[in-house]
Amino acid sequence: MSGESQAPAIGIDLGTTYSCVAVWRRDRVEIIPNDQGNRITPSCVSFKETERLVGDAAINVAASNPVNTVFDAKRLIGKRFSDPLVQTDLMLWSFKVVSGGHDDKPMIVITYMDEEKQFSAEEISSMILTKMKEMAEAYLGCPIKDAVITVPAYFSDSQRRATKEAGTNSGFNVLRIIVEPTAAAVAYGLDKMSSGERNVLIFDLGGGTFDVSLLTMTDGVIKVKSIAGDTHLGGEDFDNRMVNYFLEELKRKHKKDISNKSRALRRLKTACERAKRNLSFMAHTTVEIDALYNGVDFESKISRAKFEELNMDLFEKCIGHVEKCFKDAEMDKTSIHDVVLVGGSTRIPKVQQLLQDFFNGKELCKNIHPDEAVACGAAVQAAILTGQGSDKIQNLILYDVTPPSLGVGVAVDEMSVVVGRNTTFPTKKEASYFTSCDDQTSMLFKVYEGERPRVSDNISLGEFRLSGIPRAPRGAQSIHVYFDIDANGILNVSGEHKTTGKKNSITISTVDTMRPKDEIHKMLEDAERCKSEDARHKHRFALRRSLDNYIYATRDNILAKRSASNVAAAGTKRIRGEIKNAIQWMKENRLAEADVFESKRKELESNWNPFIKKESSN
Ligand code: AMP
Repeated sequence: MSGESQAPAIGIDLGTTYSCVAVWRRDRVEIIPNDQGNRITPSCVSFKETERLVGDAAINVAASNPVNTVFDAKRLIGKRFSDPLVQTDLMLWSFKVVSGGHDDKPMIVITYMDEEKQFSAEEISSMILTKMKEMAEAYLGCPIKDAVITVPAYFSDSQRRATKEAGTNSGFNVLRIIVEPTAAAVAYGLDKMSSGERNVLIFDLGGGTFDVSLLTMTDGVIKVKSIAGDTHLGGEDFDNRMVNYFLEELKRKHKKDISNKSRALRRLKTACERAKRNLSFMAHTTVEIDALYNGVDFESKISRAKFEELNMDLFEKCIGHVEKCFKDAEMDKTSIHDVVLVGGSTRIPKVQQLLQDFFNGKELCKNIHPDEAVACGAAVQAAILTGQGSDKIQNLILYDVTPPSLGVGVAVDEMSVVVGRNTTFPTKKEASYFTSCDDQTSMLFKVYEGERPRVSDNISLGEFRLSGIPRAPRGAQSIHVYFDIDANGILNVSGEHKTTGKKNSITISTVDTMRPKDEIHKMLEDAERCKSEDARHKHRFALRRSLDNYIYATRDNILAKRSASNVAAAGTKRIRGEIKNAIQWMKENRLAEADVFESKRKELESNWNPFIKKESSN
């Protein structure tokens, strides 16, 4: 199917600093230039007395209109104002951000047409997306509806949802939200369809985010094995390190503190970004800003070595994420065929060198355009989804991974994982859960995502109840629970009682659900940080489960004996009373510590085991 008669679907890389739009036409990807002829467009909006500027026009007036020029909206999207990362960013922005009331949404405050106005990050993103839409319509000569938009792999669901909302508000039919490294992999994979199986690492270091993903490509099937990264690591952070360095120099040499002078700060930031770019090609550069503040003409030199020193910990952090990605995929770095660089910040020589060293000197692939690869992949995906792709791409299949583990809450506060972290989807997994008390006629399934053993440390996604379970002793009835994730990342959780056929389910969209959650990345970091605490909880849960089993096994043993002999043995009555008390004790002490379960177990064993032994020898 050629798809020429239908309006083409486009792919948009909505970047922190730059955005890029592409389309699949005439059997290849075309990058759509903006009205200035540029292939990437600054993700920037400037509000003036009479007009609103987006893209290059906005960046051009940023220095003269700093408090009303908004950039970095992606760093705010789907986040709360009180988020420490937002608070850190605030200090370096020349525009004002306030808390938007009860939901703590960050709101950008600007003056537009002589009136103070507040905009959310979604609204700003929507203005950028509208610009991309207009560019595509002008280039393609027809109205455009369908689009695939990319987000960083570690964007949380609320951030994905906010991005999708921004797309819808711009008049798009958002076909799918896909993650940036996967889109880059699609772009990379186009020429590698027939090269047998290849293990590929995509290293995507952009303006605001860092994503690393490990994937395999076999005959047009791209499978993501694992992903890692940081939603707050990229070129902007490197710029900020340089800004802080010069702020100190200004204080020292000129006795001037411009840290809260928005216009001067914005000009310094722009100059630092330019200097950083220069340092990718030169060993030294000069930062020159005429009349920076109060008559000071600022001029200073900076070397590549100094820039590297200022950012070394951040560069090393990137390599740490690469290491983690291999650990998660249980793969060895020597099995990698290609290391692909994506994102403007991969032009930094030190980043390339550290990465090359990590791979024992292996050549890095620089043959896909770092600024355009993500939009290319999104355009290919858009063509596939609308059936507009040619044979070359229509058979390309993409399997993504679920970053966090998914599971249900069992007992009290315990996470039972059904779909492990970094599982490729589409996927279907199942698990069985048994009744936890006698005559239980319904079971409540609460679905969570997260890496922590306690559900109270994870994120609740929803719940459903399965009723109508026939009365029976504890553990005699079971419910099969199925976790089904489709190609869109839509999770359907269902439960079934096999013998009665009773069923219930919930659908959770990883794209459409707004959940009060922090970034997935932070969640993984928490899990790493709380390793020893989590190990303690796991141990506690294991002892609790084992004590539970012991009490009920003793009871079943005694019940079986009684029904066999039909006569209560001497002492049975006492033990039965004690079992009843022990069951009650368990109910009241489910949150107890491991040593409490341990000593209870000892107490019960010393009371019951001699009796059980005697009974079995009779
Ligand atoms: P992206 O989000 O992929 O568009 O990347 C944008 C980031 O790449 C910005 O922070 C740019 O400053 C940075 N960047 C672009 N070119 C270079 C370069 N030559 N050297 C260092 N950083 C660069």
